[in-house]
Amino acid sequence: MLKGIFVILDGLGDLANKQLDNQTPLEAAETINMDFLATRGEMGYMYSVKPGFVPESDEAIVSIFGNELISSTRGQLEAKGAGLKLMRGDLAFRVNFATIKSLESGEIIDRRAGRNLTTEEAEVLARAINNLVKLPCKFDFVPTVQHRAVLVLRGGFSDDISGNDLIYSEGKVKLTDKIGFCKPLDEEDNSQYTANIVNEFLDKACEILKNSEINKERQKKGFLPANYLLVRGAGIELPKLKQYRKWASVAYMPLEIGFSQLSGMNIFSFNYPPLKKFDAYENLYDALKKACQFSMKCIQDNLKKYDYLYIHIKETDLPGHDNKPIEKKEMLEYIDKTLFKYIRKIAPPNKIKVVVTGDHSTPCKLKNHSADPVPVLFYNCGEIPEEKHFSEKEARLGRLGRILGGELLKKVGFV
Ligand code: ZN
Ligand code: ZN
Repeated sequence: MLKGIFVILDGLGDLANKQLDNQTPLEAAETINMDFLATRGEMGYMYSVKPGFVPESDEAIVSIFGNELISSTRGQLEAKGAGLKLMRGDLAFRVNFATIKSLESGEIIDRRAGRNLTTEEAEVLARAINNLVKLPCKFDFVPTVQHRAVLVLRGGFSDDISGNDLIYSEGKVKLTDKIGFCKPLDEEDNSQYTANIVNEFLDKACEILKNSEINKERQKKGFLPANYLLVRGAGIELPKLKQYRKWASVAYMPLEIGFSQLSGMNIFSFNYPPLKKFDAYENLYDALKKACQFSMKCIQDNLKKYDYLYIHIKETDLPGHDNKPIEKKEMLEYIDKTLFKYIRKIAPPNKIKVVVTGDHSTPCKLKNHSADPVPVLFYNCGEIPEEKHFSEKEARLGRLGRILGGELLKKVGFV
């Protein structure tokens, strides 16, 4: 019997925003169904990894599911989610198709090539890279969803190297719009060798992207060319994660799919809807709609099959990165009136407990993840006649109090 539903709204936490009368998107959003659950439950706030740490999504979920954060897991989890096998010594990266002004200037114009690269365009570009880039080792470059891709270098490499986007580094955010080089992070020869090969790959790939017909066509239409690759999250071995055999997971992005597989969960997934329009936000709604509907169906179909269901909704992170607080608020309202309306109906009669939180904060005004704690809502079928609104502000005063990511599932009795 389903005992609990665990919903992560990616990048949920935010800061007061001028465009919303100095409220956060969650505070400003009308969320009567989440509020219903909060009113009959408790709230708190969580540092998904630890205070002062700015988590990437992989670091956050690995930690929230009770695993110690040892080294980067991003590349491996995404490679696993994309169906790539990793052998000993293979090095995996998460990759973004991005737009730079030129290799000489090193200036990043957009980290996601305007967020309107279609999966088909990415496939053509990836094919050219796989066919034309020659390296001293074998490699696989695999596009996943839209601007996202995975790179695996085959052979005995070191994962102690940085990516080439300087904004990501070790739980801290630096504001920069310049591309960097991959650098060794220790004194080992192999790390230097690995960094050299990755840099060689990036230069050669850039040359191919620059000259591709797809990018010429994109520019004719007034779109940003996908003329550069940003790599991050170098990782070498599949992490050994805590096993959640009685759990099922609704996951549709490679990272969450890879993580759920390695955590022993049963996975329900759907194909990400293709870009229909070149307005990135219209497409996001297609995906969000599908994610909510699919999640509702999974709850309904699995009331008797699993003990817990983990639902990860990715879209809410994006307006934070793009500084679109109104869109973030509207997305939260949409999720509330679809998925949470359904959960509100199904949870009380079936005595299902519900946890809603984020993996990290992505404040719109910072356009990036931050170390700010995320609000936590825990519906435990209680009867407390005091109206609450799920928000960062109220969550800070909630009875659950301050939670570290690694303690959350224990605290709510899900493990
Ligand atoms: Zn995230
Ligand atoms: Zn993010």
